[in-house]
Amino acid sequence: MKVRCWGARGSIPVSGPEYDRYGGDTPCLEIRGADGQVLVVDAGSGIRRLGNQLQREGVKRLTLLFTHSHWDHIIGFPFFKPLYDPSVHITLGGCPAFQGEMTKVLGLAMRGPLFPVTFDQLAARIEPFSWCEEEYRLGGVRITRIALSHPNMGAGYRFEENGRSVVFLTDNELSHHHHGGRSFEEYVAFCQGADLLIHDAEYLPEEYPDKKGWGHSHYEDAARLAKEAGVKALGLYHHNQDRTDEGMDRLVERCRVFLASPGHVPECLALTQSSEFEL
Ligand SMILES: [Zn+2]
Ligand SMILES: [Zn+2]
Repeated sequence: MKVRCWGARGSIPVSGPEYDRYGGDTPCLEIRGADGQVLVVDAGSGIRRLGNQLQREGVKRLTLLFTHSHWDHIIGFPFFKPLYDPSVHITLGGCPAFQGEMTKVLGLAMRGPLFPVTFDQLAARIEPFSWCEEEYRLGGVRITRIALSHPNMGAGYRFEENGRSVVFLTDNELSHHHHGGRSFEEYVAFCQGADLLIHDAEYLPEEYPDKKGWGHSHYEDAARLAKEAGVKALGLYHHNQDRTDEGMDRLVERCRVFLASPGHVPECLALTQSSEFEL
């Protein structure tokens, strides 16, 4: 299973030399199964570059999932070029009870006067797929889901294939219960033994008290989760819009120091908008 990150920034795309290394594109994650199946989670601004890559490769079939529909997770959708190719077939999976009707939300975002092309005018074949059961299988990849602790709710995912696993929990506030969210222990169980946990780490602990209830975690909570769940590596994610590359380096260093205690120590890194993992 191959995991590629096309955007790791939270809230709003940012640009400038101070964001060079970690990147300014907002959430988009690509999972490729061993059989080449393409799974995409979220359509933040990073999905634009993914679309270009898929066109170069001639990929005509993919599955698209969403964690939730806040702007930073859908803003790239209208700029995903495969949508304008009639030979492309996209399965749009999700459960309305968890995240609302995604086709409806995307339809609202793509309508005058907000955007000149409507959702109905897209050339690709988009097939909504209601997935409300416990698990979903795509080729050899098993996908399970957990509710996020986040305003307006959302879904986190675990992808497993051939005994390897990656968990994607962005926009998840571990120290505050939002409607529909789960307990810390339930998130620990969901992440248990994962090879890679990608988790929201928008804040430093000292920044967090002013932002409590906004739907995001600080890196110490993410690190605690990684340690208790016994994951091999923690990938910090949903970088604060004002966190420069130097600020990100300091945050990662502090995460490593925080985790460096007796017992199991997960590796700590921060995702960039071009991170790749072969699991
Ligand atoms: Zn977000
Ligand atoms: Zn959000």
